[in-house]
Amino acid sequence: MLIDTHCHLNFKAFKKDLDEVIVRAKESGVAKIIIPGAKIDSSRRAVEIAGKYDGIYAAVGTHPHHAGEDLDTDTLVLLTRDKKTVAVGEIGLDHHRYKNYPELTDREKDNQVTLFIEQLKIAERFNLPVIIHCRAAQEQLLKTLNNFLKKGGQVRGVFHCFEGTADYLDRVLELDFYIGFDGNITYPENKSLAGLVKRVPQNRLLLETDAPFLTPLPFRGTRNEPAYLTETAEFIAGILKIKSEDLANKTNENADRLFFVGRNL
Ligand SMILES: [Zn+2]
Ligand SMILES: [Zn+2]
Repeated sequence: MLIDTHCHLNFKAFKKDLDEVIVRAKESGVAKIIIPGAKIDSSRRAVEIAGKYDGIYAAVGTHPHHAGEDLDTDTLVLLTRDKKTVAVGEIGLDHHRYKNYPELTDREKDNQVTLFIEQLKIAERFNLPVIIHCRAAQEQLLKTLNNFLKKGGQVRGVFHCFEGTADYLDRVLELDFYIGFDGNITYPENKSLAGLVKRVPQNRLLLETDAPFLTPLPFRGTRNEPAYLTETAEFIAGILKIKSEDLANKTNENADRLFFVGRNL
């Protein structure tokens, strides 16, 4: 049994065959799936899908790519209160080039910080963990999160699809956050991720697909789906030189501790 802690079943890529994708996931042993939102619409869709299927849960939030748009706090709060919402996410900072913008302006970067803090507060208010997306903005993200925590903010969560140096990883782990790895760890050009995965204490490790993106080998080049989590799990178990079953048990315990314990789902 595995838990896919980050899978966008709410995205268009799954519109036509959602039922089949979920059946295949269950058949391959993926018993629980968390669907993160990227903005209000996809958060609403995540809650809607979670409401229809056993073992499927939602995270609601606005991704930094949508920081320019006004945050509809009322709707977000409403979705946060849904019975099957287990996290606020994905939220964070992303300074990677946008498709349509060659370079982010300082104002856009500031907007991302404001949006991130606003949603950290919502997570704190509803005592939910956060799913953090961070791309090419590591220092600013840590600074923002540290400031929030230093001011007495209480928040726990996962750095999803982890990227960065060993030093940065250590500083994230000091904050007691979890670390999520995805199918891109199987790519030959990402050998450095293997070193990072070994550095994470096994009680802080989470598995995710980020489907429809980041398809693991040998399916790279096709749409990713939650059933392929088994490939990533096997690959990581290989790096850690432990049995796939032991990795599954450890990461399931971690996902349960972060997202599910103490909830009446
Ligand atoms: Zn992300
Ligand atoms: Zn994602």
